[in-house]
Amino acid sequence: MRKVCRMNDNVNIAKTVMFVLTHKCNLHCTYCYQNHAARDLRCMDVEFVKEKIVEVFRTTSTNKIYFDFIGGEVFTEWPRFKQICEWIMEGQRPIPYAITVSTNGTLITEEIKTWMRHHKDKVFLSLSLDGDDPMQNVNRGTNKYSIDYKFFFETWPSQGIKMTLSAQTIPYLARGIQYLHTYWNLGENLSVLPENFENPISCNLAYGIDLSSGNYFDLKRELIKLIDFYMGDGVNYFPSSILNVDFTYFKFDKNDYKVCKYCGAGTNVVCYDVDGRTYPCQFFIPLTMSPKHLKILPNFSFAGDVRDPSCRNCQIETICPTCYGHNFKKNFNPFIRDKSLCIFTKLILLANCILQAKRILRKAVKRDAELFTLKVIDYLYPILSKDIETFESSIRTIES
Ligand code: SF4
Ligand code: SF4
Repeated sequence: MRKVCRMNDNVNIAKTVMFVLTHKCNLHCTYCYQNHAARDLRCMDVEFVKEKIVEVFRTTSTNKIYFDFIGGEVFTEWPRFKQICEWIMEGQRPIPYAITVSTNGTLITEEIKTWMRHHKDKVFLSLSLDGDDPMQNVNRGTNKYSIDYKFFFETWPSQGIKMTLSAQTIPYLARGIQYLHTYWNLGENLSVLPENFENPISCNLAYGIDLSSGNYFDLKRELIKLIDFYMGDGVNYFPSSILNVDFTYFKFDKNDYKVCKYCGAGTNVVCYDVDGRTYPCQFFIPLTMSPKHLKILPNFSFAGDVRDPSCRNCQIETICPTCYGHNFKKNFNPFIRDKSLCIFTKLILLANCILQAKRILRKAVKRDAELFTLKVIDYLYPILSKDIETFESSIRTIES
């Protein structure tokens, strides 16, 4: 199960209704946050899904609804999924909608491809692909499957791919991203993403994995290689999300600023598990959380103050990505962030400062957002450099 989230509650007025279609999955990805030992074969009742969809259309006022089907792996239940989609598409629906699925791509048959090509304007598949074949295999053990990457890129060119980095694949980050850009031509000749385009390569560190100082130095080396790539042979590619953080969310003055949620969990997102119970998003279902977690979950309001008091003095608070599900699993409080990730976040943001400044400065004409980004970089670069230097010298002291 890979995490797929529409980011930032503030800018997204669409609603996402998630249905955990099945707990079944044919893979055992190393970074999966679901408890594989607890995995069962349960599936969602088709009539229940239909009832909920009717209710959502009747009770929701929004500009768009995403019906997001997740698992496990949704395509272990292809006939069930198809039946639901055909039912949704047959009816007259009062609000624009899209049906979305994140898939590992290993179970897509010719029959599914033909059906998908026919319905590609309403049903969107996102392929989760973790780099080149050795990287995929280390993370997901996919070498016995044949995945038709071309089918995904040709059918939904705007969807991009979702690449998750595990501790084992961090040392190959640059190679994996270059492979996806150059072999599959992802993001070529895009200087700005057209509306409704996902990042061609959405790449993030997996949540819930143990990261060491060795991983930190591997990541640093790989980010430097990637910066060189995006300034050299890859200059015509739209950078992967790991080096394309949106600095326009940065706030210079945080005093009156209400920290908004990073995603729509619990507000713009609702997730139905296979038994029909609801959760803030797919991360909170019992396949991931313990009974102890689930007992205290109702104590937290996702519509209220989500600020972590201990982040108040951190300069990057407004652009620091966080996952409330991961926080909850780790700290028994969705709003207390995982501080073991701080130095990795700072390293990634520092690499963003370097690459984004280089790419913007070489442009003759700069957009307003780019001018603001340069201002943010000017402010953040010395702060981040100092934090990085302090961390690295503490590691050197420990090692000497
Ligand atoms: S980097 Fe760490 S301290 Fe700063 S906002 Fe993120 S989680 Fe909080
Ligand atoms: S809490 Fe985490 S998994 Fe859930 S929607 Fe937010 S970022 Fe995604």
